[in-house]
Amino acid sequence: MATVSLRNIYKNYDSKRGKVEAVKDLNLDIQDKEIMSLLGPSGCGKTSTLRMIAGIEKISKGQLYIDDTLANDLTPAQRNISLAFEDYALYFHLTVRENLSLCLEAKKLQEDVIQNKIKKVSEMLGIEDILNVKTTALSGGQQQRVSLARALVRDPSIFLLDEPISHIETEKRYKILAEIKKINREFGSTMLYVTHNQTEAVAVSKKIAIMNFAELQQVGTRDEIYNNPINLFVANFVGEPPINIMKCKIASERDVIQLQAENSTLTFIPEEKTAKLLHELHLNEVVLGLRPQNIHIKKLSNTQKSMKGITQVKEFLGEDINLILKNGDHNFSVFCTTDMGFDKGQELELYYDPYRLHLFHPETEKAIRA
Ligand code: ADP
Ligand code: MG
Repeated sequence: MATVSLRNIYKNYDSKRGKVEAVKDLNLDIQDKEIMSLLGPSGCGKTSTLRMIAGIEKISKGQLYIDDTLANDLTPAQRNISLAFEDYALYFHLTVRENLSLCLEAKKLQEDVIQNKIKKVSEMLGIEDILNVKTTALSGGQQQRVSLARALVRDPSIFLLDEPISHIETEKRYKILAEIKKINREFGSTMLYVTHNQTEAVAVSKKIAIMNFAELQQVGTRDEIYNNPINLFVANFVGEPPINIMKCKIASERDVIQLQAENSTLTFIPEEKTAKLLHELHLNEVVLGLRPQNIHIKKLSNTQKSMKGITQVKEFLGEDINLILKNGDHNFSVFCTTDMGFDKGQELELYYDPYRLHLFHPETEKAIRA
């Protein structure tokens, strides 16, 4: 069993530029055998968090529990954790096989046990052909696989993976993510997968923890985060193409609350409960978010409301299309799975569901939802 719990964890660095608060009051629970992704932009504190869990960076404040045991002062070895980093950290004067066997020899395992473990992991990661090659002779992608293999071969109870596939060719990345998931199932290990890439996070784990500026923003499944972002940052950070954001004035027309985007004819009607909440908050303005996937070219139900836009640009996303439209001062995107052949400058009537509108407080940027 291996659970990891972070309680009010802080990490401060003293650097030449002064004090850096890299992680602030972080609370996070990773369940036994779970893969959790830690997702966020560069510099938000992901690597610092991972290094504190591994025991190679001191925790400035707070408690780390591994299996209900306070682990702050345990050595990395006592924690039974394996790490794979973006920058490999391999022994370059050794062959791939020697890199993999080193940590197993330290555990005083039998030679045939060691070679069997190496065989299994190297087949999984497609490096069985290069086992006798010196790691200096390998490409960046191959070195990253070896680094991953070295973490996996130790069979620890916790894996910490920090951007482990960033140097691997795009088309091979998803195969490796599938292998990581398989390893998780077969070995029953608990994993924390650090990445700045939302597609990777969604592909590798059910649960995603999102960080920004040293702070945890939200933890949830892909759907929870996508459909109920807790604040404007999360709404903007997840979703491709990015969510449409518009500042709106709140107006009331015969008791119906309307959200009017400035200098355009875009008027949105929120669903009843949210409208009531907006009314109670006495706001004049609100930030509205509407995902490109939640605007439709055909009317799908009677509860849908309409909006207008003039087509500007068609962006091809593989087989899908991001159609960009304009209304007054606002550009917004609509996600289409088929090319309906619209010409530039054509006015379209579009449809959205009132309960798909995301509303955020203009100052706190927190979600407003009933
Ligand atoms: P991420 O992995 O999300 O990119 P990091 O945890 O590496 O973020 O860094 C978080 C912040 O801490 C950044 O501002 C970074 O510059 C700073 N930082 C990281 N390591 C050190 C260090 N050893 N000394 C000083 N500042 C650091
Ligand atoms: Mg990092």
